[in-house]
Amino acid sequence: MSDSNKKPNILISSCLLGNPVRYNGTDLLIDHPLFKKWQDHDQLVAVCPEVEGGMPVPRAPAEITKGDGKTVLSGKSRVIDAEGEDVTNAFIRGALKSLKTALDYNCVAAILTEHSPSCGSNMVYDGTFSKTKREGVGVTTSMLEQNHIPVFNQEQLEDLAEYLDSGAYLDVKTD
Ligand code: SF4
Repeated sequence: MSDSNKKPNILISSCLLGNPVRYNGTDLLIDHPLFKKWQDHDQLVAVCPEVEGGMPVPRAPAEITKGDGKTVLSGKSRVIDAEGEDVTNAFIRGALKSLKTALDYNCVAAILTEHSPSCGSNMVYDGTFSKTKREGVGVTTSMLEQNHIPVFNQEQLEDLAEYLDSGAYLDVKTD
């Protein structure tokens, strides 16, 4: 049977889909009609970059020391966990695997968890472990955006619906 009517796929943070993969073993399940619609249409492709990068659940929380995910990908910053361990490589590995998943499933956009050092898209914690945030994106968000996959957070589902309805993703050039 043809799947020409299949709606576009959306990458989503696994914790937003209800999987208990956060650093403290909890989830952040979304409760929203748009989310349920996309789920019913089988459009959501779950990924947890930190687990994909090889990190356990639970794990020590981690923060980007300076700048944001872009700075980490350019080699000018690191991701350090609350125990002082440098987990930068795991974060980059997770970002690469998440990008591969997005490309393998032809995801046209992503819904990622705000404030996470992997998944944040507006603000991230500032590296002081004092609950202070600064403007910036997570490592996986940066990886996706550099590859023309727009990232929305869990408070921006209407914006994502508008983006999908506009068909703008059909014009995205990837070369
Ligand atoms: Fe959720 Fe992203 Fe953190 Fe995984 S890395 S628990 S998907 S916010």
